[in-house]
Amino acid sequence: QTILSQTDFTERDDLTYPFEERGLQFGDGIYEVIRIYQGSFYLLTEHVNRLFRSAAAIKLQLPFSKQTITNQLQELLAKNAMTTDGIVYLQATRGSAPRTHAFPAADTPANVYAYVKDMPRKREEIINGVSAITQRDIRWENCYIKSLNLLPNVLAKQEAQENGCFEAILERDGRVTEGSSSNLYLVKDHHIYTHPATNQILNGCVRMRVKQFAADLEYPLTEEAFSPEAIANADELFLTSSTSEVMPIVMVNGKPIADGQPGSITRQLQTAYEADAQISNVT
Ligand code: PMP
Repeated sequence: QTILSQTDFTERDDLTYPFEERGLQFGDGIYEVIRIYQGSFYLLTEHVNRLFRSAAAIKLQLPFSKQTITNQLQELLAKNAMTTDGIVYLQATRGSAPRTHAFPAADTPANVYAYVKDMPRKREEIINGVSAITQRDIRWENCYIKSLNLLPNVLAKQEAQENGCFEAILERDGRVTEGSSSNLYLVKDHHIYTHPATNQILNGCVRMRVKQFAADLEYPLTEEAFSPEAIANADELFLTSSTSEVMPIVMVNGKPIADGQPGSITRQLQTAYEADAQISNVT
């Protein structure tokens, strides 16, 4: 498999890192997961823009311009003759250097790689919905950065899985922030609520589109956090992410949401997503 490494292409097996590497030792880096449908990127510009926002936030100098990385990611798909549904994973770290907390010498190049991976759509979950548990949000105060420091997210997702659930809904100070790897939405009386795009959540690329879909469908979407208690009385609950699309949540902490079936507004947003991404309707 051909991957992008630093600023050039190489074979996957040829990529090696010294163990003194900032991403490995400190999680000192950022990443993106970009959706591919039938060999074409979805929301590539939004992901590249967010990558540069994250880099600026951690004072990381990326070794390419937005235009260059955009072209190279397209080239990566071409080199791998990508025609199916998948993702590109891209990460950039502060490079390889002797371990010490403060930044390495200014001329230390960032370590960048990107590779393509097959990932079919989660049809069964998209159609039937998934279950979730609530968990305390113990992450840091800069969740708008797509940082490699994912230990709290890893622990929350593992807890969800051990409880037979798809996602962990994170709550902080009586408010639902987001999922361990997704954004969260509650529907009540035909009104959609989601946490505002502050430093307490990652502003999802799908989330940005969902705001437009809701506007197009003329459902009010208010960027206002809801409480974990409000979930019990929700008409609908759903999550979004690049790999999960618009995913109904039909059960939380073992209790069904409304009648335990995906809701009508969630379905309409799924249809809007599929139209926007130019993919087939599975519901
Ligand atoms: N929040 C978190 C914490 C995430 O990890 C993700 C997935 N990257 C999202 C939200 C959704 O972001 P996106 O829609 O860009 O995939």
